[in-house]
Amino acid sequence: MDNLNLRKINDYVIQLVADHIYALDEFGVDIMYLAEGKERAMLVDTGAGLGRLKETVKALTDKPVFVVNTHGHIDHALGNYEFDEVYLNEKDGWMTEPPYMTNEKWQEFCMRQRKEPAYTGLDLTGKSLCLQKPSGNIAEGMRFDLGGREFEAIGISGHTPGSMVFLDSKNRILISGDSVVSTPILIFDTYSSSVEEYLRDLKKLAARQEEFDLILPGHYLRPIGKKYLFDLMECAEEILAGKAEPEQGDFRHMSSEPALVHRYGQASIVYNEEHIRMK
Ligand SMILES: [Zn+2]
Repeated sequence: MDNLNLRKINDYVIQLVADHIYALDEFGVDIMYLAEGKERAMLVDTGAGLGRLKETVKALTDKPVFVVNTHGHIDHALGNYEFDEVYLNEKDGWMTEPPYMTNEKWQEFCMRQRKEPAYTGLDLTGKSLCLQKPSGNIAEGMRFDLGGREFEAIGISGHTPGSMVFLDSKNRILISGDSVVSTPILIFDTYSSSVEEYLRDLKKLAARQEEFDLILPGHYLRPIGKKYLFDLMECAEEILAGKAEPEQGDFRHMSSEPALVHRYGQASIVYNEEHIRMK
């Protein structure tokens, strides 16, 4: 490779996206981030547990590593089992445990990913699901000190009830999971919060827009600009005002719930009538 900021370890494509922050692309499925401080390193998300993540992280840092999850979804928190110190918002804990999370569900997910044209990973035959309870909860305003740099946890309820983003004001970086991302924001599943709560929490984030420039999302493009945040707010406003003219979406591989897609600028939200107003 002729880009010195890009390399491949154990099939993960790794990009240095900011000072001491690596993006780890899990085979085209999701993106994790490793942020290093003077004392320790923080891994944001662990993907779907498809590869040898711990070994890969060890090749990038010699600091002790702990994990924070942006949320409890299968493609963000299922590699947790490789790490001892893991934090997840307790509202999403059930997503990473039986009876919701099962080997069968995970295998089905893996099979689907392998068929995706973007999938760049290993053959997963013979792998099975490993689950581990998080060691701690992430609450609003919690600070993770890495030594010389610090991330603050901010809750963005919507995509899941316990979704969190992580802000490093000093270095002007926001790690946003699936809460601010270039792909559609999914707020249509049985457990999703409402578009109203999502907008309320995006406004909380927008009130701090002077504290970050780069947004590092949980999928695809890395990084993205703040325009996504403002377009998402407009998109949510239009849905709440009844001004949306949505298209019918097909998200049956994720949920049997009806899915409407509304777009504004670069952003889009997938929702349905059950998840518009706060209950
Ligand atoms: Zn998600």
